[in-house]
Amino acid sequence: MLLQIGHSQQVTNGFSMPESITSNGERFFVSSQGQDFMTKDGDGFISEISSDGKILNHKFLPSKGILNAPKGMTIVNNILFVADLDRVVGYNIKNRKTVFELVIDEAKLLNDICESENGFIAVTETVSGNIYKINIDKKSFEIIGNIPTANGVAYNQKTKQLLVCSNGENYGDGSVYLKTENSEFKELPNISNGFFDGIEWVDNEHIIISDWITFPVNGYGKLWVYDLKNQQSEFNITEESIADIYYDNTTSKIYMPQMFHNKVLISDWEQLSKNQNEINNLYNYGVIDAFIGGLYRGTLPIKDLKLKGDFGLGAPNMLNGELTMLNGRAYQTKATGETIELENNHLTSFASVTFFKADTTFVQNSSADKSAVLNTIEKMLPSKNKMYAIKISGNFDHIKTRAFPPVENEPFPKLANILDQQQFFDYENADGTLIGFFLPSYLNGINAGGFHFHYLSNDKKQGGHILEFNGKDLKIEIANLKTFEMETPNDNDFQNFEFIKTENESLRKVEQGKH
Ligand SMILES: [Zn+2]
Repeated sequence: MLLQIGHSQQVTNGFSMPESITSNGERFFVSSQGQDFMTKDGDGFISEISSDGKILNHKFLPSKGILNAPKGMTIVNNILFVADLDRVVGYNIKNRKTVFELVIDEAKLLNDICESENGFIAVTETVSGNIYKINIDKKSFEIIGNIPTANGVAYNQKTKQLLVCSNGENYGDGSVYLKTENSEFKELPNISNGFFDGIEWVDNEHIIISDWITFPVNGYGKLWVYDLKNQQSEFNITEESIADIYYDNTTSKIYMPQMFHNKVLISDWEQLSKNQNEINNLYNYGVIDAFIGGLYRGTLPIKDLKLKGDFGLGAPNMLNGELTMLNGRAYQTKATGETIELENNHLTSFASVTFFKADTTFVQNSSADKSAVLNTIEKMLPSKNKMYAIKISGNFDHIKTRAFPPVENEPFPKLANILDQQQFFDYENADGTLIGFFLPSYLNGINAGGFHFHYLSNDKKQGGHILEFNGKDLKIEIANLKTFEMETPNDNDFQNFEFIKTENESLRKVEQGKH
């Protein structure tokens, strides 16, 4: 059955936990893991589909023997190699005969597979993180690297570069790594962390990567394009649980197995770009007047916040410092000055996040302080009645931040009454990023109107709510936020909170850090 949905893509149903798609440019194969993706239950199979997604042969393989939970596949000289838990099996696609089998005893979850140098294939093992290089003729293997939770793998014959992406040990803090011929794997910069699965070369300078964002909580995922030359990344939102993708470089089509929905989606980058409602949407959790009125108890898990954005700021559980989100990771800067990454189950009481995609980028060349930089930005904004996310990065001569200590005893004090407990931090010659927003004054009370920034150093060890800064050659990126989405806590504290009009003055004091 074929139909068009959501992000204008073609859909084929009827698979069983499909994990990967591959092709030799003519024939297309989909691996189905069956009921379980880790168990030797013999219910895995491989289907053949047409380039436009019609099922040609539902159970093309195995014609003899079994597959348990087949994942990554690659075709080398008409042999379809499949990673199946602890073994790699090869089938001649012309006669469906098994022509290769290699068991790697120590392996539990062989995941993705690709052709590497002539006569070799590379395979990842997700449990150990081992990356194996297999000699096809000799049926021997060696370990050529180890990346914890390694998943997708792709090799470029021309540039002799091997890519590996990972899930992340906390199911969403994975990265993308590149290995050139005689060097070690190096993490690629300027891409958010994610739960990365499939990876493909588009051309010698671009790669495409599927990202579940988190696991097991979903809703949707991301598809990334990474530019190796300029070290820049860009994403589109996709459906959730997109596993090991295939990129067809003659048609530019992207084949995406949707693992938890037993579907294969076929689309291209342009089609996907058309309906991106999640990007540059401001997700506002909680109401700032309630927060500064004493509702510091967290109610939204960080893992849920990550589904609403990869960039933003807010408050940790029980006040306890400042929350900052950058590149899909959430950080807490405490009143002790310490900055740590927040666990997915940490709760926030108030947060504003977005999937950040800049519309305007410029560099502030002259040396400037906070008010000069913000003046410049304000002049760039099309209207003060619209919402913007703003990222300022570079080397700062000086930054002054603050963080609140945690609250302990109920009833919690109003924030304006504990300003004397703020801790201030001064950083000189600081490399980092300011993460923030400009919001229209009519949002005052729900959020803070005007500018609001938090800071995070490049080494992720310093941060806090911004009070002052100055610097030179700062890169300023502005995203025009199109939509506003608000969610409020379901706990009794919020539902019984009494909103009073006079909090605006308190909010002003809190934002400026003044008594
Ligand atoms: Zn703040």
